Amino acid sequence: MSAATLTPAQKAFGELADHCILCPGCKVDLGRPVDPPECPEAMERYRSWFLLWRREVRR
Ligand SMILES: [Zn+2]
Repeated sequence: MSAATLTPAQKAFGELADHCILCPGCKVDLGRPVDPPECPEAMERYRSWFLLWRREVRR
């Protein structure tokens, strides 16, 4: 799937996942991605994703 086909929420989720893979401070279990992360930066990305996602599912 190319980036052009992603919705903003999907893109934000990918950025959150990328951060959690690269950040040693993150304790996110990618098998359970709906759990909020404990890292402040990841939490910020999680919130951004959640707001976008909620907007998209309400469409
Ligand atoms: Zn992090």
